[in-house]
Amino acid sequence: MADTDYDVLILGGGSGGYACALRAAQLDLSVAVVEESKVGGTCLHQGCIPTKALLHAAEVADSARDSEVFGVRATFEGVDMAGVNAYKDGVVKRLFNGLTGLVRSRGVTVIEGRGRLTGPRQVAVGDTTYSARHVVLASGSYPRMLPGLEVDGERVITSEHALRLDRVPASVAVLGGGVIGCEFASVWRSFGADVTIVEALPRLIAGEDEASSKALQRAFTKRGITVRTDTSFESVKHTEDGVALTLADGSVLEAEVLLVAVGRGPRTEGLGYDEQGVAMERGFVLTDERCRTNLDGVRAVGDIVPGLQLAHRGFAQGIFVAEDIAGLDPRPIDEVGIPRVTYTAPEVASVGLDETAARAAYGEDGIETLTYDLGGNGKSQILKTQGFVKLIRRTDGPVVGIHLVGDRVGELVGQAQLIHGWEGYPEDVAPLVHAHPTQHEALGEAHLALAGKPLHTHS
Ligand SMILES: Cc1cc2nc3c(=O)[nH]c(=O)nc-3n(C[C@H](O)[C@H](O)[C@H](O)COP(=O)(O)OP(=O)(O)OC[C@H]3O[C@@H](n4cnc5c(N)ncnc54)[C@H](O)[C@@H]3O)c2cc1C
Repeated sequence: MADTDYDVLILGGGSGGYACALRAAQLDLSVAVVEESKVGGTCLHQGCIPTKALLHAAEVADSARDSEVFGVRATFEGVDMAGVNAYKDGVVKRLFNGLTGLVRSRGVTVIEGRGRLTGPRQVAVGDTTYSARHVVLASGSYPRMLPGLEVDGERVITSEHALRLDRVPASVAVLGGGVIGCEFASVWRSFGADVTIVEALPRLIAGEDEASSKALQRAFTKRGITVRTDTSFESVKHTEDGVALTLADGSVLEAEVLLVAVGRGPRTEGLGYDEQGVAMERGFVLTDERCRTNLDGVRAVGDIVPGLQLAHRGFAQGIFVAEDIAGLDPRPIDEVGIPRVTYTAPEVASVGLDETAARAAYGEDGIETLTYDLGGNGKSQILKTQGFVKLIRRTDGPVVGIHLVGDRVGELVGQAQLIHGWEGYPEDVAPLVHAHPTQHEALGEAHLALAGKPLHTHS
């Protein structure tokens, strides 16, 4: 028999789980979260926040190194990883304290321990079984491995170890040119390491528009990062002072450290999902657009659900589920409208369809594209960054994709998202007045040009 009853019982207190808990509690539902580690999950403790702190420290290092470009004399004497880690951990700690305070003040019960789904509306933690009207699965993801790879946390590492390194390695091989691999490559290069990315696919960040991938690869190459696309990994062995990777083309790559960043798998094994008959595919939990699994009273959110593995998607799903359970009839999440940012130097950001997907959806003649070079944007010139705004619209219709490359363009994605989400026509966006000088003006200029009224571009 169940010992405790809740309206909502959430398995996992990461982005998806805690957002669901906070919103459900706000809606006067009784809520418990089962968490075996720390509320905040991957995003707060091993993902978004600590990596972005490292990336900011990397930007500071670049500013110091390149200060003369701006006429400022400063000497870059290297990176003190103890100091960088203290700064990063301080950011995480402050946010964690804030979050735990919030969870407490909303009256959410946190049940510490490893949970297991033991019935459609039941979760067991140790010897205690908890029941609820609704169970929400939010157990997150783990770093995937390739056959022949064994992580030792020293020479062969995952992103979790990479966040705790107490030194800048002299050389790093990054296996996987997705978002996580590229972000760490960017950090380490700024910190002075010799970096090589090995990617099996033909391009970096393959989920992005091809033009963005190519621009990032060009920028990385210019920064001295070696990018080896179309290159598969065969095996790795330890050397005296690091690792030696054998690649499919027969070449050998030596490095002090190998970061394995080949994607993240859903954390769904051994949690009772299978036994209870939750419908899954390749380990991911299948849901409908209302985040409902095939079992009555069981929902799922976040990285365990197929789709973009992003914290803000998890937040949005968690909030959606809480509101749906409370009977508010929220609108299902528009997955295509979820913004994406890769926080490398330069940044890559996007919302909506890439050009290939747009052509597939609307036909070769069904779309128009326009690329506005940041060379014409005052603020980008001040920042000395290169990149572009690329727009994709349906012919005589709304904008269906916005792709951005350049330092700090991640901050533009909010406006891009509004344009996309509200199905803006370039003709509607063109008259908007943007503050000068900002990078937002580049978005405005691109829409002016696509609406046939280019201002600072040649028609
Ligand atoms: C290096 C890195 C950088 C990232 N950067 C970004 C970024 O910049 N922006 C972005 O949007 N996303 C980023 N992400 C992705 C983001 O972290 C995830 O999409 C997000 O955390 C997923 O949320 P979630 O709730 O599904 O799972 P998680 O955050 O992983 O939370 C799951 C929680 O469930 C707990 N749990 C699991 N199983 C059990 C169990 N049986 N019992 C009890 N508790 C359990 C875990 O301890 C964990 O706390 C990054 C990820 C990584 C690894």
